[in-house]
Amino acid sequence: MSDCIFCKIIEKKIPSKVVHEDAETFAFEDINPQAPTHVLIIPKRHVPTVSDLVPGDDALVGRLHRVAAKIASDRGIAQGGYRIVVNTNRDAGQTVFHVHLHLLGGRPMQWPPG
Ligand code: AMP
Ligand code: ZN
Repeated sequence: MSDCIFCKIIEKKIPSKVVHEDAETFAFEDINPQAPTHVLIIPKRHVPTVSDLVPGDDALVGRLHRVAAKIASDRGIAQGGYRIVVNTNRDAGQTVFHVHLHLLGGRPMQWPPG
């Protein structure tokens, strides 16, 4: 999608610190990290929110989580623990409307979240 910042990051029209790339997914460092590890994992296809996913995306959603788990393992935070967050729409604070998993770790997390 032409005016989507994350589509532009995938196309390398906007620079990012790339963490992972495969045929279906892309991962990069969050520009405003909220934890020592803060990586965004996104589908290459433009999907605005989780609410826009369709049954054919089931494998893609699994793939996004497995990429997150692999990055957590590579960063050495899997054993200690990490959090995957997907904000959806206004009340959750979604600001970029291209589905993304936040992988957060490297420090203890609070619960409940804000
Ligand atoms: P959300 O509020 O859940 O939509 O998350 C959007 C995230 O994208 C925020 O954590 C931002 O810091 C991050 N972000 C926005 N622009 C960029 C960018 N150009 N490169 C990396 N991360 C970005
Ligand atoms: Zn997009």
